[in-house]
Amino acid sequence: MIEIFRDIIELEQTKSEAPDTSCPQCNESNPANFETCWSCAGDLKSRK
Ligand SMILES: [Zn+2]
Repeated sequence: MIEIFRDIIELEQTKSEAPDTSCPQCNESNPANFETCWSCAGDLKSRK
């Protein structure tokens, strides 16, 4: 059980270290795991 918790913690740390992504519409910085811009609701995944 302890090892499972440790794996989860490592996963969370990896997520938090992911670089931010910039919104293609308003250039606002969003967390890399966001699919929609928090500022303008633009689709972050549509960027090519
Ligand atoms: Zn935006």
